[in-house]
Parts: sequence; structure tokens; C-alpha cells
Amino acid sequence: MDWRRYGLLAFTVFMVAVPFLPVPDYWITKLNYIGLFGLVSLGLVLLTGIGGLTSFGQAAFAGLGAYASAYLSVKLGISPWIGLLAGLAITLVVALVLGWITLRMSGHYLPLATIAWSLALFYTMGNLDALGKYDGLLGVPAINLFGISLQEERRIYLLIWLVAIAAAIAVTRLLDSRPGRVMRALNVNRGGGSTMPEAMGASAFRHKLLMFLIAALLAAISGWLFAHMQRSVNPSPFGIKFGIEYLFMAVLGGVGHVWGAFTGAALVKLAEDQLQTWLPALLGTSGSYEIIVFGVVLVLVLKFAPDGLWPSIERLLPARRRAHVTGTTGSAPAESLPARDKPAMGSTLLEVKNARRTFGGLVAVNGVGFAIRAGEIFGLIGPNGAGKSTTFNLISGLLPLSGGEVWLRGERVDGKGSREIARRGLSRTFQHVKLVPDMTVLENVALGTYLRTRSGTLAAMLRLDRAEEARALAEAERQLRRVGLGEHIHELAGNLALGQQRLVEIARALASDPALLLLDEPAAGLRHREKQALAEVLRQLKAEGLSLLLVEHDMDFVMNLTDRILVMEFGTPLLEGTPAEIQASEKVRAAYLGTEH
Ligand code: ADP
Ligand code: MG
Repeated sequence: MDWRRYGLLAFTVFMVAVPFLPVPDYWITKLNYIGLFGLVSLGLVLLTGIGGLTSFGQAAFAGLGAYASAYLSVKLGISPWIGLLAGLAITLVVALVLGWITLRMSGHYLPLATIAWSLALFYTMGNLDALGKYDGLLGVPAINLFGISLQEERRIYLLIWLVAIAAAIAVTRLLDSRPGRVMRALNVNRGGGSTMPEAMGASAFRHKLLMFLIAALLAAISGWLFAHMQRSVNPSPFGIKFGIEYLFMAVLGGVGHVWGAFTGAALVKLAEDQLQTWLPALLGTSGSYEIIVFGVVLVLVLKFAPDGLWPSIERLLPARRRAHVTGTTGSAPAESLPARDKPAMGSTLLEVKNARRTFGGLVAVNGVGFAIRAGEIFGLIGPNGAGKSTTFNLISGLLPLSGGEVWLRGERVDGKGSREIARRGLSRTFQHVKLVPDMTVLENVALGTYLRTRSGTLAAMLRLDRAEEARALAEAERQLRRVGLGEHIHELAGNLALGQQRLVEIARALASDPALLLLDEPAAGLRHREKQALAEVLRQLKAEGLSLLLVEHDMDFVMNLTDRILVMEFGTPLLEGTPAEIQASEKVRAAYLGTEH
């Protein structure tokens, strides 16, 4: 067993034991707040640290959870447990609406929307008579669990920390799963984005929305616990100031790390109390100077420890052992993943007809047409700027065509988008490698199995996905061995050399069991030895009957690999033929010489 499990077990046992020990009430109260705050910032770890999305509205979601249950129990005498469900349901609806509107757009729409939402809810809470205006609601009952009233702090403590630890475990499990890998690939602040997951058949929007919903629900649960612990609610802890403070906790603790959420919550809570005693003594009594101190600390953390403080704590702990259930570690899974029907050798796989693409006034691709048959390696070559990548993106669905058609296995696919095209059996690599650097090589390749697997978020959190996950990882390992990277599966992808990263991309594409594999300039930037290794892998794939479209700038590289070649120049087709014919052509030589000398 991984030491982390013992660590977690020890931590859980310790936290559960605390209220039974002679710990002063003061500390129980502190720990209750740390658990509650940690729960909210755990949502931000997922949303901001993993997903790269920022929300200032988490305190407002906590407010929804708190007010929903407080209102129902105070005014209507309804059980807090029903109140919890009501709060979660309302939160889900609000988060769905906010996410639906903003998450399709990039950048700052989500933070702005969450600020607006936060302010709107705050003034609603403060102005509605039914909610007691700024005085809030008093006399909120305590939660009853199995007939035991959680009125005492030491009792609700147990519920708070069991929920907090369970949530941390659920998020940890989620990150190590099929949807989790997609979520980790989306973060634009870490060089990720939507393009690669979409090319693997995963919806970026859906996964962003999922992260936003989970974060909102965690906040609502925290708010619910808070309301029934305080036995009252009022608007002030749910305003924008706390929305910012939760972000601060997450960043301080380590926004990319599950336990960073609780580290941050603990640091902020403890520092706040210290500052509230010390600052008035140093600076006189008036004013809340701790906000200024926090601001300065935040700037320092971002400057000197942008990953927060948890990674420094983690370094003191023993290193993580990455033992997955794969061929190397014994127990190979019984079944492999479903595979698609292979196209008959020689049948037409891909047909591009008169493709055209303009960028404003620039005609990047004009009148390009060719067909690829099953079992063939087709080369698309041309000097820089000839329109190869654009053609590639038209085929893979990343760019819409301005004219013409693309047919894949007898179906028209232009206008379908990259996810649909991936589903129909086309898989691709990227000219500028798109790996998730802080994920292992194996996990990166497992992303390629997305369309061949089904497990969702809830299954991942409950660990009901393990049998399928083992098959996905075994498939990823098989593809890594196929491209000769069997020795590197547990390394972080970001630590590999470029040539190896290109091979990881090929393995990831292969893991989707493609009918046709598209490679965009796989040899670009590689050293001689790396090029040779790549050529060897491609030859091997061809021998295994795979169909390939190889887009290359390097003419020598494609000559020995391809069956047929189309040469492009200035966006138009120049010549199609066998490598020998292309090599012999004066026109082609002139095109290459013309742009390079
Ligand atoms: P290649 O891959 O053969 O080097 P590209 O397909 O990348 O060529 O580019 C073909 C032409 O289209 C170039 O002139 C390039 O500047 C232009 N181009 C490519 N992508 C875009 C874009 N997104 N916006 C505007 N112009 C583009
Ligand atoms: Mg290119």
C-alpha cells in the first residue's frame, strides 16, 4: 500500500480522536472553521488549480446552502437534511445557469459573472424580509444525526471533518480517473486548453461545467454545516470579501493540490486570529489591517511560491510511488477495451474534395483534393506556409472549411467538429506537442482511450471505475510499448525529450484505436537519432496495417516512409505521385528551392 494511504488513515484517525481528547474548546472551534473553509477552498483547488478557472462566487454558493436550510428549518420546521438537499438542488440550478452562460466563452467571463452573482445574492439576502434582511435568521436548529443532536461543537466537529475528509478523498480520486485526466488537461495557465481533449473526443465545456458544479456544491455543503453550527445566518460571511478570501486560502495553501485547500484554510484562520491580536497593539486599535497584511502575503506567495505552501510540506514527506494496475505490476486486466471494425485493406478511408480555407483575405488552402486508402501512408509535404497544417486542421475538424468536402469512411464529416470526427476513427498528433506536463506518460496516453471508456465523475469519486480504469491503463501501456517507450511510463511527460514527447503523442493517438492516424510534422525539431527512432516506429505501424496521413516539411524524412505524396505550394496542390516521381520532379525541387534559398 502507498504510504499516502497510511498517512491519510493516520490523519483521519487523529482528526476523529481530537474531540474525545482534552483539547480546549477554543481549538475545536478553530478546527471547525478550518474544516468548513477548507471544504470551500477544496472546490477552488479543483476549479482554479486544476481547471484554470476563477470564481469569486464560492462564498455566495455557501450562502445558498446556508440560507436554504436555515429558511426551511426556521420558517417551516423542515429537517436540516431536507434543507441540505434543497440547498444542493438550488445551488446546482444556479451554477448550471452561470456555467452554461459563461463557460463556453474563454477568459474572464466566469470571474466577472461570479462577482456579479455574488453581489446580487448578497443584496438579495440583505433586503428580503423573509430572510430577515441584514440581521438574518436566528434560531436555526442543530442537525440531528441518527437521533443524536449535533448541538455541541465537539459533535458537529465530527460531521464537519468526516465530510471534509470524504470530499478530499473524492476529489483526489476524481483527479486520477477518466474525467479527471480531461480536467487536468484543460488548464490554460499550465499550457493546456480545449483543443487536445476535444481531439481525444472529450467535451471541454462539459468538464469545465462539471468542475464548476462540484466546486459550487462543496461550497453549499460547507454553508449548510456553517448555518447549523452557528445556529443562525446573516449575509456577511457570504459576501464578495469572503469570496476573495477563499481564493486566497486556495492560492496560499497550494491551488493545485487537494490538501493545499486545508493547509490554506488553516493558515488563514490561524493568522487571522494572531493578526487580530497583534495588529491593533502595533498600529492602534482602529481599522482591519489584516486585509492589508493578507494582500502583501498573497503577492509574496505568488512571487516566491506560486504553487502555494503545500508542495513544500509535501517535499518533506516520502516520495509518491506510482504503482498502477498494469502489465508491469502483475494482475493484467482480463478484458481489453472495445476496438472498432477495421476498414478493409485498400478501401477508401479519407477523401478530401476541393478543400478551401481563407483567413480574411488570405487564401491558405485552395482546391486541395486527395484520397487515402486503408493500409497506406500518405504524405502531405510542402515548404513552410504551403497550407499543410491548415489542410490538416480542416480534416481533423479543428477549423471549418470555407469550401469543399471531407469524407471519412463513407460519411461526410466537414462541419462536424473534432470530437465527432475523433469518434468516427480519426486520431491526431500536434505539431506543437500538447501533453499535460505534470501528468505521467501513462496518464497522458490514457487520455487517448477516452472514447473507448465510459466511467463518469460519480463513478470515479466512488471508485466504481477501477476495472475499466485498469483496462484503460493497460491499453495505454501497450501503446507505449508499441512506440518503444515502455521504460518511461511512470515519468512525468514534461520531463521527456521532444522526440520522446512526440512518441507519447503517437501512443496517445493510437490508444483511441484509430482507423486513420494524422501526424502533423512529427519530425520537426528532432535530432537525427530521434528522427531515426520515429521513422522506425512509423515503419512498424505501417507494417501492422495502420493507415497514416503524414504532414511533413522534411522531404527526406517522408521519402522512405510513404506510399504516395501530395506536394502543396501556396495553398494549392502542386503534384501528386509516388516518392520516386516526387523526387524526380523539377517543379517540386523548384518549389522547395524557391522558398528556402
Ligand atoms: P504550413 O503548415 O504548410 O507551414 P499553414 O497551413 O500553417 O502552412 O499556413 C498556411 C498559410 O495560412 C500561411 O500563410 C499562414 O500564415 C496562414 N495561416 C495559417 N493559420 C492562420 C490563421 N489562424 N490565421 C491567419 N492566417 C493563417
Ligand atoms: Mg505546419
